[in-house]
Amino acid sequence: MKNFKPANNIQDLQFFGEFGGVNPSISDSSTYTFMAAKTMFDTFEGNTDGCYLYSRHSSPSNLYLSEALAQMEGTESANTTASGMGAITSTLLQICNAGDHIISSRTIYGGTYAFLKNFTPKFNVSTTFVDITDLNSIEKSIQPNTKIIYCETVSNPLLEVANIREISKIAKKHGLKLVVDNTFSPLSVSPAQLGADIVIHSLTKYINGSSDTIGGVICAENSFIESLKSVNDGATMLLGPTMDSIRAAGILKNLRTLPIRIQQHSKNALYLAEKLEESGIKTVYPGLSSHPSHELYKSMINTEFGFGGMLTIDAGNLEKANALMELMQEKNIGYLAVSLGFYKTLFSAPGTSTSSEIPIEEQKSMGLTDGLVRISIGLDHDIERTYQKMMECIKELNILK
Ligand SMILES: *Cc1c(COP(=O)(O)O)cnc(C)c1O
Repeated sequence: MKNFKPANNIQDLQFFGEFGGVNPSISDSSTYTFMAAKTMFDTFEGNTDGCYLYSRHSSPSNLYLSEALAQMEGTESANTTASGMGAITSTLLQICNAGDHIISSRTIYGGTYAFLKNFTPKFNVSTTFVDITDLNSIEKSIQPNTKIIYCETVSNPLLEVANIREISKIAKKHGLKLVVDNTFSPLSVSPAQLGADIVIHSLTKYINGSSDTIGGVICAENSFIESLKSVNDGATMLLGPTMDSIRAAGILKNLRTLPIRIQQHSKNALYLAEKLEESGIKTVYPGLSSHPSHELYKSMINTEFGFGGMLTIDAGNLEKANALMELMQEKNIGYLAVSLGFYKTLFSAPGTSTSSEIPIEEQKSMGLTDGLVRISIGLDHDIERTYQKMMECIKELNILK
Protein backbone atom coordinates (compact mmCIF):
# COMPACT_ATOMS: atom_id res chain seq x y z
CA MET A 1 0.00 0.00 0.00
CA LYS A 2 2.75 2.46 0.98
CA ASN A 3 4.28 2.12 -2.47
CA PHE A 4 1.05 2.31 -4.39
CA LYS A 5 1.43 5.03 -7.03
CA PRO A 6 -1.87 5.47 -8.88
CA ALA A 7 -0.68 8.43 -10.97
CA ASN A 8 2.33 6.45 -12.25
CA ASN A 9 0.04 3.56 -13.09
CA ILE A 10 -2.06 5.85 -15.27
CA GLN A 11 0.93 7.54 -16.90
CA ASP A 12 2.66 4.27 -17.75
CA LEU A 13 -0.16 2.95 -19.93
CA GLN A 14 0.58 2.80 -23.64
CA PHE A 15 -2.45 2.63 -25.89
CA PHE A 16 -1.68 3.31 -29.55
CA GLY A 17 -4.17 4.04 -32.30
CA GLU A 18 -4.76 1.92 -35.36
CA PHE A 19 -2.23 3.91 -37.44
CA GLY A 20 0.28 4.51 -34.69
CA GLY A 21 -1.77 7.37 -33.30
CA VAL A 22 -0.82 8.55 -29.81
CA ASN A 23 -4.43 8.05 -28.73
CA PRO A 24 -6.19 4.74 -29.13
CA SER A 25 -8.66 4.52 -32.01
CA ILE A 26 -12.32 4.95 -31.10
CA SER A 27 -14.33 1.84 -31.82
CA ASP A 28 -17.31 3.15 -33.76
CA SER A 29 -19.19 -0.12 -34.02
CA SER A 30 -22.00 -1.79 -32.15
CA THR A 31 -21.32 -5.21 -33.63
CA TYR A 32 -18.29 -7.18 -34.86
CA THR A 33 -17.67 -9.67 -37.64
CA PHE A 34 -16.33 -13.16 -37.07
CA MET A 35 -14.14 -14.96 -39.58
CA ALA A 36 -15.68 -18.29 -38.59
CA ALA A 37 -19.11 -19.20 -37.25
CA LYS A 38 -17.50 -21.42 -34.63
CA THR A 39 -15.70 -18.41 -33.13
CA MET A 40 -19.02 -16.63 -32.73
CA PHE A 41 -20.41 -19.61 -30.83
CA ASP A 42 -17.34 -19.79 -28.60
CA THR A 43 -17.53 -16.08 -27.87
CA PHE A 44 -21.14 -16.38 -26.73
CA GLU A 45 -20.07 -19.28 -24.55
CA GLY A 46 -17.81 -16.84 -22.71
CA ASN A 47 -14.48 -17.47 -24.45
CA THR A 48 -14.20 -13.85 -25.46
CA ASP A 49 -10.40 -13.74 -25.56
CA GLY A 50 -9.47 -11.12 -28.15
CA CYS A 51 -12.94 -11.19 -29.69
CA TYR A 52 -15.69 -8.64 -29.40
CA LEU A 53 -19.27 -9.75 -29.40
CA TYR A 54 -21.49 -6.74 -29.27
CA SER A 55 -20.79 -3.35 -27.71
CA ARG A 56 -23.25 -3.77 -24.84
CA HIS A 57 -20.92 -6.55 -23.67
CA SER A 58 -17.68 -4.65 -24.25
CA SER A 59 -15.95 -2.54 -26.83
CA PRO A 60 -12.28 -1.69 -27.39
CA SER A 61 -12.77 1.92 -26.24
CA ASN A 62 -14.52 0.83 -23.05
CA LEU A 63 -11.79 -1.70 -22.37
CA TYR A 64 -9.06 0.96 -22.67
CA LEU A 65 -10.83 3.16 -20.16
CA SER A 66 -11.64 0.20 -17.91
CA GLU A 67 -8.00 -0.90 -17.88
CA ALA A 68 -6.83 2.60 -17.01
CA LEU A 69 -9.28 2.82 -14.11
CA ALA A 70 -8.35 -0.65 -12.86
CA GLN A 71 -4.72 0.54 -12.89
CA MET A 72 -5.70 3.65 -10.96
CA GLU A 73 -7.42 1.61 -8.24
CA GLY A 74 -5.00 -1.31 -8.35
CA THR A 75 -7.69 -3.88 -9.06
CA GLU A 76 -7.43 -6.79 -11.50
CA SER A 77 -10.14 -5.48 -13.76
CA ALA A 78 -12.90 -2.93 -14.25
CA ASN A 79 -16.04 -2.30 -16.27
CA THR A 80 -17.25 1.14 -17.29
CA THR A 81 -20.93 2.02 -17.23
CA ALA A 82 -23.07 4.82 -18.59
CA SER A 83 -23.45 6.42 -15.16
CA GLY A 84 -22.35 6.12 -11.56
CA MET A 85 -25.83 4.87 -10.70
CA GLY A 86 -25.47 2.25 -13.46
CA ALA A 87 -22.32 1.02 -11.71
CA ILE A 88 -23.86 1.04 -8.22
CA THR A 89 -27.17 -0.62 -9.09
CA SER A 90 -25.56 -3.28 -11.31
CA THR A 91 -23.08 -4.18 -8.57
CA LEU A 92 -25.70 -4.46 -5.83
CA LEU A 93 -28.11 -6.45 -8.01
CA GLN A 94 -25.32 -8.77 -9.16
CA ILE A 95 -24.35 -9.72 -5.62
CA CYS A 96 -27.79 -9.89 -3.97
CA ASN A 97 -30.50 -12.48 -4.40
CA ALA A 98 -34.07 -12.08 -3.18
CA GLY A 99 -34.09 -12.26 0.61
CA ASP A 100 -30.59 -10.83 1.04
CA HIS A 101 -29.60 -7.95 3.25
CA ILE A 102 -27.27 -4.96 2.84
CA ILE A 103 -25.64 -2.79 5.48
CA SER A 104 -25.15 0.73 4.20
CA SER A 105 -23.83 3.96 5.54
CA ARG A 106 -26.77 6.29 6.13
CA THR A 107 -24.88 9.24 4.65
CA ILE A 108 -24.60 8.34 0.99
CA TYR A 109 -25.46 9.84 -2.36
CA GLY A 110 -29.21 10.56 -2.53
CA GLY A 111 -29.76 8.33 -5.56
CA THR A 112 -28.06 5.36 -3.90
CA TYR A 113 -30.10 5.96 -0.75
CA ALA A 114 -33.34 6.04 -2.75
CA PHE A 115 -32.36 2.86 -4.60
CA LEU A 116 -31.70 0.97 -1.36
CA LYS A 117 -34.65 2.41 0.50
CA ASN A 118 -37.35 2.35 -2.19
CA PHE A 119 -36.28 0.13 -5.08
CA THR A 120 -34.49 -2.99 -3.81
CA PRO A 121 -37.35 -3.87 -1.39
CA LYS A 122 -39.28 -4.80 -4.58
CA PHE A 123 -36.89 -7.74 -4.82
CA ASN A 124 -37.08 -8.44 -1.09
CA VAL A 125 -33.58 -7.07 -0.58
CA SER A 126 -33.51 -5.04 2.63
CA THR A 127 -31.02 -2.50 3.93
CA THR A 128 -29.99 -1.42 7.41
CA PHE A 129 -28.62 2.12 7.41
CA VAL A 130 -25.90 2.70 9.99
CA ASP A 131 -23.58 5.43 11.19
CA ILE A 132 -20.54 4.27 9.21
CA THR A 133 -18.11 5.81 11.71
CA ASP A 134 -19.50 3.45 14.40
CA LEU A 135 -17.77 0.10 13.77
CA ASN A 136 -19.76 -1.60 16.51
CA SER A 137 -23.08 -0.72 14.95
CA ILE A 138 -21.87 -2.12 11.62
CA GLU A 139 -20.96 -5.46 13.16
CA LYS A 140 -24.15 -5.56 15.24
CA SER A 141 -26.26 -5.07 12.12
CA ILE A 142 -24.95 -8.21 10.41
CA GLN A 143 -27.64 -10.83 9.83
CA PRO A 144 -27.31 -14.39 8.47
CA ASN A 145 -28.51 -13.09 5.05
CA THR A 146 -26.21 -10.03 4.90
CA LYS A 147 -24.15 -9.91 1.71
CA ILE A 148 -22.73 -6.40 1.43
CA ILE A 149 -21.33 -3.55 3.47
CA TYR A 150 -21.75 -0.40 1.37
CA CYS A 151 -20.19 2.99 2.01
CA GLU A 152 -18.58 6.04 0.47
CA THR A 153 -14.93 6.77 1.33
CA VAL A 154 -15.86 10.36 2.12
CA SER A 155 -19.60 10.61 2.45
CA ASN A 156 -21.93 12.84 0.55
CA PRO A 157 -22.72 15.44 1.79
CA LEU A 158 -21.45 15.30 5.39
CA LEU A 159 -17.84 14.37 4.54
CA GLU A 160 -17.75 11.58 7.10
CA VAL A 161 -14.81 9.25 6.58
CA ALA A 162 -15.25 5.47 6.44
CA ASN A 163 -12.46 3.53 8.13
CA ILE A 164 -11.98 1.21 5.17
CA ARG A 165 -9.19 -0.84 6.76
CA GLU A 166 -11.30 -1.72 9.81
CA ILE A 167 -14.59 -2.14 7.93
CA SER A 168 -12.87 -4.52 5.50
CA LYS A 169 -11.74 -6.65 8.45
CA ILE A 170 -15.36 -6.92 9.60
CA ALA A 171 -16.43 -7.79 6.05
CA LYS A 172 -13.77 -10.49 5.70
CA LYS A 173 -14.54 -11.99 9.10
CA HIS A 174 -18.20 -12.45 8.12
CA GLY A 175 -17.72 -13.31 4.43
CA LEU A 176 -19.30 -10.07 3.16
CA LYS A 177 -18.33 -7.91 0.20
CA LEU A 178 -17.18 -4.40 1.03
CA VAL A 179 -18.36 -2.07 -1.77
CA VAL A 180 -16.92 1.46 -1.65
CA ASP A 181 -18.05 4.45 -3.68
CA ASN A 182 -14.83 6.47 -4.09
CA THR A 183 -16.32 9.28 -6.22
CA PHE A 184 -15.26 12.08 -3.81
CA SER A 185 -11.66 10.92 -3.43
CA PRO A 186 -10.07 9.53 -6.61
CA LEU A 187 -6.25 9.17 -6.29
CA SER A 188 -6.36 10.56 -2.73
CA VAL A 189 -7.70 7.25 -1.48
CA SER A 190 -7.21 3.80 -3.03
CA PRO A 191 -9.91 1.73 -1.27
CA ALA A 192 -8.93 -1.61 -2.82
CA GLN A 193 -5.44 -1.16 -1.34
CA LEU A 194 -7.07 -0.71 2.07
CA GLY A 195 -9.16 -3.86 1.76
CA ALA A 196 -12.30 -2.97 -0.22
CA ASP A 197 -13.54 -5.71 -2.56
CA ILE A 198 -15.26 -3.49 -5.11
CA VAL A 199 -14.58 0.19 -5.84
CA ILE A 200 -17.10 2.30 -7.70
CA HIS A 201 -16.85 5.77 -9.19
CA SER A 202 -19.19 8.20 -10.80
CA LEU A 203 -16.87 9.27 -13.63
CA THR A 204 -19.21 12.23 -14.07
CA LYS A 205 -17.37 14.06 -11.29
CA TYR A 206 -13.60 14.44 -10.81
CA ILE A 207 -12.42 11.72 -13.14
CA ASN A 208 -13.90 13.20 -16.29
CA GLY A 209 -13.79 16.63 -14.68
CA SER A 210 -15.39 18.69 -17.42
CA SER A 211 -19.08 18.31 -16.52
CA ASP A 212 -19.93 17.30 -20.08
CA THR A 213 -20.90 13.67 -19.63
CA ILE A 214 -22.28 11.07 -17.25
CA GLY A 215 -20.30 7.90 -16.61
CA GLY A 216 -19.41 5.24 -14.07
CA VAL A 217 -17.05 2.38 -13.35
CA ILE A 218 -16.84 -0.78 -11.26
CA CYS A 219 -13.31 -1.84 -10.28
CA ALA A 220 -12.90 -5.34 -8.85
CA GLU A 221 -11.29 -8.71 -9.31
CA ASN A 222 -11.57 -10.27 -12.71
CA SER A 223 -14.10 -12.94 -11.77
CA PHE A 224 -16.60 -10.33 -10.54
CA ILE A 225 -16.17 -8.13 -13.62
CA GLU A 226 -16.66 -11.17 -15.87
CA SER A 227 -19.78 -12.13 -13.92
CA LEU A 228 -21.24 -8.66 -14.55
CA LYS A 229 -20.71 -9.16 -18.30
CA SER A 230 -22.11 -12.67 -18.49
CA VAL A 231 -24.61 -13.08 -21.32
CA ASN A 232 -26.64 -15.41 -19.10
CA ASP A 233 -26.90 -13.57 -15.80
CA GLY A 234 -24.66 -10.51 -15.81
CA ALA A 235 -26.15 -7.26 -14.51
CA THR A 236 -24.31 -4.87 -16.83
CA MET A 237 -24.90 -7.12 -19.84
CA LEU A 238 -28.61 -7.65 -19.12
CA LEU A 239 -29.61 -4.30 -17.61
CA GLY A 240 -27.63 -2.52 -20.30
CA PRO A 241 -26.00 0.54 -18.62
CA THR A 242 -23.34 0.63 -21.33
CA MET A 243 -21.03 3.55 -21.92
CA ASP A 244 -20.74 4.84 -25.46
CA SER A 245 -17.30 4.42 -27.09
CA ILE A 246 -16.94 8.08 -27.96
CA ARG A 247 -17.55 9.05 -24.35
CA ALA A 248 -15.13 6.39 -23.12
CA ALA A 249 -12.42 7.84 -25.37
CA GLY A 250 -13.12 11.34 -24.07
CA ILE A 251 -13.00 10.30 -20.40
CA LEU A 252 -9.71 8.42 -20.96
CA LYS A 253 -8.15 11.61 -22.31
CA ASN A 254 -9.37 13.63 -19.32
CA LEU A 255 -8.16 10.97 -16.86
CA ARG A 256 -4.57 11.81 -17.81
CA THR A 257 -4.76 15.21 -16.16
CA LEU A 258 -6.56 13.93 -13.05
CA PRO A 259 -3.38 13.89 -10.90
CA ILE A 260 -2.66 17.59 -11.40
CA ARG A 261 -6.33 18.52 -11.12
CA ILE A 262 -6.77 16.68 -7.82
CA GLN A 263 -3.67 18.34 -6.43
CA GLN A 264 -5.03 21.78 -7.33
CA HIS A 265 -8.55 21.02 -6.02
CA SER A 266 -7.04 19.80 -2.74
CA LYS A 267 -4.66 22.74 -2.40
CA ASN A 268 -7.46 25.25 -3.00
CA ALA A 269 -9.93 23.49 -0.71
CA LEU A 270 -7.44 23.26 2.16
CA TYR A 271 -6.57 26.94 1.81
CA LEU A 272 -10.22 28.00 1.81
CA ALA A 273 -11.24 25.63 4.62
CA GLU A 274 -8.49 26.96 6.90
CA LYS A 275 -9.26 30.60 6.11
CA LEU A 276 -13.02 30.20 6.44
CA GLU A 277 -12.71 28.36 9.75
CA GLU A 278 -10.33 31.04 11.03
CA SER A 279 -12.90 33.65 10.06
CA GLY A 280 -15.48 31.99 12.30
CA ILE A 281 -17.49 30.07 9.72
CA LYS A 282 -18.59 26.55 10.58
CA THR A 283 -16.54 24.59 8.04
CA VAL A 284 -16.29 20.86 7.53
CA TYR A 285 -13.25 19.58 5.61
CA PRO A 286 -11.32 16.36 6.30
CA GLY A 287 -8.06 18.30 6.01
CA LEU A 288 -8.91 20.42 9.07
CA SER A 289 -7.71 19.14 12.43
CA SER A 290 -11.20 19.98 13.74
CA HIS A 291 -12.67 17.24 11.52
CA PRO A 292 -13.55 14.24 13.72
CA SER A 293 -11.81 11.84 11.32
CA HIS A 294 -8.85 14.03 10.38
CA GLU A 295 -6.19 11.66 11.76
CA LEU A 296 -7.90 8.61 10.31
CA TYR A 297 -8.18 10.23 6.89
CA LYS A 298 -4.52 11.25 7.03
CA SER A 299 -3.65 7.60 7.56
CA MET A 300 -5.72 6.59 4.52
CA ILE A 301 -4.67 9.07 1.82
CA ASN A 302 -1.95 8.95 -0.78
CA THR A 303 -0.42 12.08 0.72
CA GLU A 304 0.56 13.87 -2.49
CA PHE A 305 -3.12 14.17 -3.51
CA GLY A 306 -4.31 15.80 -0.34
CA PHE A 307 -7.69 15.83 1.32
CA GLY A 308 -9.78 16.46 -1.78
CA GLY A 309 -11.82 19.32 -3.14
CA MET A 310 -15.08 19.06 -1.18
CA LEU A 311 -15.99 21.14 1.83
CA THR A 312 -19.18 22.27 3.51
CA ILE A 313 -20.03 25.44 5.35
CA ASP A 314 -23.07 26.18 7.45
CA ALA A 315 -24.89 29.40 6.65
CA GLY A 316 -27.26 29.05 9.62
CA ASN A 317 -30.54 28.39 7.84
CA LEU A 318 -31.96 27.63 4.42
CA GLU A 319 -32.78 31.25 3.54
CA LYS A 320 -29.23 32.32 4.27
CA ALA A 321 -27.79 29.32 2.45
CA ASN A 322 -29.88 30.14 -0.62
CA ALA A 323 -29.02 33.84 -0.49
CA LEU A 324 -25.32 33.02 -0.12
CA MET A 325 -25.33 30.69 -3.10
CA GLU A 326 -27.17 33.22 -5.26
CA LEU A 327 -24.76 35.98 -4.28
CA MET A 328 -21.69 33.79 -4.84
CA GLN A 329 -23.00 33.00 -8.31
CA GLU A 330 -23.66 36.69 -8.99
CA LYS A 331 -20.07 37.49 -8.01
CA ASN A 332 -18.89 34.68 -10.29
CA ILE A 333 -17.22 32.67 -7.53
CA GLY A 334 -18.87 29.65 -9.05
CA TYR A 335 -22.17 28.17 -10.13
CA LEU A 336 -25.26 27.16 -8.17
CA ALA A 337 -25.35 23.64 -9.53
CA VAL A 338 -25.28 20.08 -8.26
CA SER A 339 -22.36 17.80 -9.13
CA LEU A 340 -18.67 18.26 -8.41
CA GLY A 341 -15.18 18.06 -9.81
CA PHE A 342 -15.56 20.88 -12.34
CA TYR A 343 -12.87 23.53 -13.04
CA LYS A 344 -15.34 26.07 -11.71
CA THR A 345 -16.54 26.00 -8.10
CA LEU A 346 -20.02 24.45 -7.75
CA PHE A 347 -22.33 24.79 -4.77
CA SER A 348 -25.67 23.40 -3.69
CA ALA A 349 -27.77 23.00 -0.54
CA PRO A 350 -27.86 19.20 -0.13
CA GLY A 351 -31.09 19.07 1.90
CA THR A 352 -33.09 20.50 -0.98
CA SER A 353 -31.12 18.93 -3.84
CA THR A 354 -28.92 15.83 -3.96
CA SER A 355 -30.07 14.53 -0.57
CA SER A 356 -33.73 15.48 -0.95
CA GLU A 357 -34.58 11.77 -1.34
CA ILE A 358 -33.75 11.44 2.36
CA PRO A 359 -36.79 12.24 4.56
CA ILE A 360 -36.44 15.46 6.58
CA GLU A 361 -36.55 13.59 9.92
CA GLU A 362 -33.67 11.36 8.85
CA GLN A 363 -31.72 14.32 7.50
CA LYS A 364 -31.96 15.85 10.98
CA SER A 365 -30.90 12.69 12.79
CA MET A 366 -27.75 12.39 10.66
CA GLY A 367 -26.78 16.01 11.24
CA LEU A 368 -27.71 17.31 7.81
CA THR A 369 -28.74 20.86 8.70
CA ASP A 370 -30.73 23.01 6.31
CA GLY A 371 -28.14 25.78 6.29
CA LEU A 372 -25.52 23.42 4.90
CA VAL A 373 -23.86 24.48 1.66
CA ARG A 374 -21.81 21.83 -0.13
CA ILE A 375 -18.99 23.32 -2.16
CA SER A 376 -16.87 21.61 -4.79
CA ILE A 377 -13.84 23.89 -4.94
CA GLY A 378 -12.68 24.65 -8.46
CA LEU A 379 -9.25 24.89 -10.03
CA ASP A 380 -9.02 28.64 -9.28
CA HIS A 381 -5.55 29.97 -9.95
CA ASP A 382 -5.89 32.73 -7.34
CA ILE A 383 -7.60 31.16 -4.36
CA GLU A 384 -6.82 34.12 -2.06
CA ARG A 385 -8.98 36.28 -4.35
CA THR A 386 -11.74 33.63 -4.17
CA TYR A 387 -11.56 33.73 -0.37
CA GLN A 388 -11.84 37.54 -0.35
CA LYS A 389 -14.87 37.38 -2.64
CA MET A 390 -16.52 34.72 -0.46
CA MET A 391 -15.99 36.84 2.64
CA GLU A 392 -17.62 39.81 0.91
CA CYS A 393 -20.72 37.66 0.34
CA ILE A 394 -20.69 36.28 3.87
CA LYS A 395 -20.41 39.78 5.38
CA GLU A 396 -23.03 41.28 3.11
CA LEU A 397 -25.53 38.64 4.25
CA ASN A 398 -24.62 38.85 7.95
CA ILE A 399 -23.87 35.17 8.10
CA LEU A 400 -21.26 35.76 10.79
CA LYS A 401 -23.36 36.66 13.80
C1 LIG B 1 -22.93 11.68 -8.55
C2 LIG B 1 -22.70 10.57 -7.62
C3 LIG B 1 -23.21 9.30 -7.88
C4 LIG B 1 -24.08 9.00 -9.08
O1 LIG B 1 -23.36 9.11 -10.26
P1 LIG B 1 -24.04 9.46 -11.69
O2 LIG B 1 -22.88 9.48 -12.61
O3 LIG B 1 -24.71 10.79 -11.53
O4 LIG B 1 -25.02 8.39 -11.97
C5 LIG B 1 -22.93 8.29 -6.98
N1 LIG B 1 -22.19 8.52 -5.88
C6 LIG B 1 -21.69 9.73 -5.59
C7 LIG B 1 -20.88 9.90 -4.37
C8 LIG B 1 -21.93 10.81 -6.45
O5 LIG B 1 -21.44 12.00 -6.15
